[in-house]
Amino acid sequence: MNFLVPDRIEAGPARIRAAARAVSRLAAERADALDRTGGFPAQDVAHCHEAGLLAAPLPVALGGAGLDAPTMAPVLLDVLAEVGRGSLALGRLYEGHVNALSLILRYASESVLARLAADVRAGHLFGVWNTQPQAGGLDLDPHGTGLLGGVKSFASGAGSVTRPLVTARRPDGRQQMLVVTLEPDTRSDLSSWCAHGMRASTSGVLDFSGLPVDGQAAVGEADDYFREPHFSGGAWRFTAVQLGGIEAVFDTVRAHLVATGRGGDPHQAARLGEAAIAVETARLFVSRAAALANDPDAEPARVIAYVNLTRMAVERAGLDVLERAQRSVGLAGFLQTHPLERLMRDLATYLRQPGPDRALTHAAAHVLADDRPADTLWRDPRDSNRAGLQSGRAA
Ligand SMILES: Cc1cc2nc3c(=O)[nH]c(=O)nc-3n(C[C@H](O)[C@H](O)[C@H](O)COP(=O)(O)OP(=O)(O)OC[C@H]3O[C@@H](n4cnc5c(N)ncnc54)[C@H](O)[C@@H]3O)c2cc1C
Repeated sequence: MNFLVPDRIEAGPARIRAAARAVSRLAAERADALDRTGGFPAQDVAHCHEAGLLAAPLPVALGGAGLDAPTMAPVLLDVLAEVGRGSLALGRLYEGHVNALSLILRYASESVLARLAADVRAGHLFGVWNTQPQAGGLDLDPHGTGLLGGVKSFASGAGSVTRPLVTARRPDGRQQMLVVTLEPDTRSDLSSWCAHGMRASTSGVLDFSGLPVDGQAAVGEADDYFREPHFSGGAWRFTAVQLGGIEAVFDTVRAHLVATGRGGDPHQAARLGEAAIAVETARLFVSRAAALANDPDAEPARVIAYVNLTRMAVERAGLDVLERAQRSVGLAGFLQTHPLERLMRDLATYLRQPGPDRALTHAAAHVLADDRPADTLWRDPRDSNRAGLQSGRAA
């Protein structure tokens, strides 16, 4: 196979998209075998490294392809959806890696960035571990001994992510981002990750207790992790991965209808048409969210509200497609021998994201307080002028 290698990766979007397609195709072939507790997609992550995708978010000067730059958002969207289409578990892991690098690029000092960029180029997988059990989380130096204390939960890649970016509570109660150095297969407990789907994401518990904190581990200042609009706006990236999972279910249903010769039936056709609407709705929302979240001139409150709406629109699209898939394929789709079975479990599980009710009601509160008419709620008149100029130029 002719992979891109990190030191030869070219910044061209076409090459990055091609690398994502290659990774996605092989990940799809391996995904069923990894659908078990502890079935981490190590080969796929190695493939991401060989293909240059692990380093891709770094700027070209640091050996990457500049994929984290705002102008590259449409490419990043395609990469995340492509990887998610092949394997939602790998998509989750890759999105965590991209999110960690994005936070490091935004907030880390130059020396920390240089050190971590070398780790990325060496093939370390990063992730962001913020979730923790309601009672007790991760504390920075709880006993004044310079050690960490406590755990993170639902930590994707637990045991395999060797450079997690974690949030840890400081003695003053504020949250500090740290990038911690971990050895593979240490401190992880996957026993609680007996999940309905997304098993290969190995989202277990990580116990940091007694781990010394490196003086160079801190990224940014206290509470930077929650700085808006990046905290809420960054959610567009997981919606892009979800989109890939929705598209995979859709493609599988359509293939089933073609193979069984049932697609011409008016009921089946109606469901397929409704599913196609849901898929395209999700793609349109995610594209617009990616554009808004990466527009340096966008109003922060508008970015947050729109990305929150996108989360809900994509969740709705996913649930709609799942319902259509179950009704159109029927019981055959619930058998482990059918490709739909794992795809549906993975998607149903990955649609669960933090605080969905809050995301919707925050967006609603924004809309309530904004007196602009509906046609300009999410778009400024300058956007249509710009579009007009562009189409005029194209003509
Ligand atoms: C496959 C997978 C991988 C993951 N990997 C990671 C990872 O690597 N790192 C990480 O940090 N996290 C990770 N997570 C966790 C993720 O970020 C969310 O924390 C998790 O998905 C929350 O799911 P939930 O449905 O329990 O959400 P919740 O936010 O608990 O919501 C459950 C329901 O309760 C409602 N609700 C929420 N808060 C309240 C409240 N205070 N009062 C009343 N109702 C409330 C919600 O609106 C929703 O209806 C992962 C999750 C998944 C599914």
